[in-house]
Amino acid sequence: MKPRKLHIKSYGCQMNVYDAQRMVDTLAGEGFVETTNADDADLVILNTCHIREKASEKVYSELGRLRVMKEEAARQGRRIDIAVAGCVAQAEGGEIINRAPVVDVVVGPQSYHHLPQLLARAERDGRALETEFPTEDKFAFLPPPKPDVIRARGISAFVTIQEGCDKFCTFCVVPYTRGAEVSRPVSKIVDDVKRLADHGVREITLIGQNVNAYHGEGPDGRTWPLGTLLHRLAEIPGIVRLRYSTSHPRDIDDALIEAHRDIPAAMPFVHLPVQSGSDRILSAMNRKHTARDYRRAIDRFRSLCQDIAFSSDFIVGFPGESEEDFQATLALVTQIGYAAAYSFKYSPRPGTPAAEMQEMVSADEMDERLARLQELIDSQQSAFNRASIGTTVDVLFERPARNPGQIVGRTAYLQPAHVIATEAIVGQVLPVKIESLERYSLLGELACPVPRLAAAPETMPTTHPSETTMGA
Ligand code: SAM
Ligand code: SF4
Repeated sequence: MKPRKLHIKSYGCQMNVYDAQRMVDTLAGEGFVETTNADDADLVILNTCHIREKASEKVYSELGRLRVMKEEAARQGRRIDIAVAGCVAQAEGGEIINRAPVVDVVVGPQSYHHLPQLLARAERDGRALETEFPTEDKFAFLPPPKPDVIRARGISAFVTIQEGCDKFCTFCVVPYTRGAEVSRPVSKIVDDVKRLADHGVREITLIGQNVNAYHGEGPDGRTWPLGTLLHRLAEIPGIVRLRYSTSHPRDIDDALIEAHRDIPAAMPFVHLPVQSGSDRILSAMNRKHTARDYRRAIDRFRSLCQDIAFSSDFIVGFPGESEEDFQATLALVTQIGYAAAYSFKYSPRPGTPAAEMQEMVSADEMDERLARLQELIDSQQSAFNRASIGTTVDVLFERPARNPGQIVGRTAYLQPAHVIATEAIVGQVLPVKIESLERYSLLGELACPVPRLAAAPETMPTTHPSETTMGA
């Protein structure tokens, strides 16, 4: 049978990137192969994000474009199915069905393992919607990716270890769209990571809405925190780098900080969103921590791991944010010194407590504050990047770069780094002498002879390559 083609357009966070891959894995069993071209797809899935208004709006404009495409295909006697998945599907499923007749399937983020059945139902009944949180664990039903698919996805992979959130920050839709906090058992995560490592993956980013709230069942029957899980995963042959995202300041514990000190594979770069530097605003946001608690968490990390660097998320213009509150945010950024950070204008989300708050900050003020914050963050990021010029840093090489002859990889701090080399270095961690900086990318040259290692994962080093190449 001719394979059917599937195109997924994913918006938003890393969880959505991961979910999109698992949808591809699920539908591979139904004879679907992925295509990057929506125009020749038999099934188009929009994997949506509801975190800010702009992200949600994109769905409806994209559906308008898909309607034209679907009608044109129908004139040519070809059927195209359109599915909306992700957090907009969860939050606005009924509305999508009413507003967009072009949509055949609506499926929430906890139910996409049912996609094959939903597509069959849509073919039979016209349309299908599933946005209930199912009682079963979707991970038990998701087929593992095939070896060639793992290889094609590259040497760095995401693995979900935790989903949902019980924190209920007043601005955030996640607890409503992703549901309550659930951690996957250690054994399942270890199986996933082993399979990825067996097929060439070298770096794992553990993901979860609140990843460091992880409390999964360990093989010893006890509850394991993230720090203990990192120790176990670092033992898996082939895995040379471990990262995790996104962390909440309240859930930083000693086991996690010590893991950074004790595990060479635990990368010294932590994304730790604070949102605001003002305690008044943090309290209105229901963040359950103060600016002082946050600084303390950073200090604890820095006292044990001298090379650690941080990134963060900020919201400007939360209801009631005064110039004084905003100044407190700037002061916190100045004091911490970030390697990178994301900043957003507050966007009221229907159904969240903050959406009912009255004292809205004007659009002009929000724009102005965002520009000031981004200027400060940019200057810190540039200074951080410039500081690597002249130093030798470890780079995990990922793929050929756009510039012919160059290979691109990432430093421990996720800075892209380019060298002139052959593809044989893909998958290896090698020392690079950094010579210059081009916007956010580092340029350098290999500071060691290229070890004679074939790119095939079977023959790749199973120890942390930086241990064997640093002194080369
Ligand atoms: N769990 C993470 C935490 O506690 O920081 C954040 C996850 S959220 C998916 C990613 C980021 O989106 C947040 O850190 C926040 O900065 C931003 N965000 C969430 N809701 C927002 C809203 N209503 N308006 C603007 N930004 C928002
Ligand atoms: Fe949203 Fe707050 Fe949960 Fe993060 S901790 S996902 S910001 S509710």
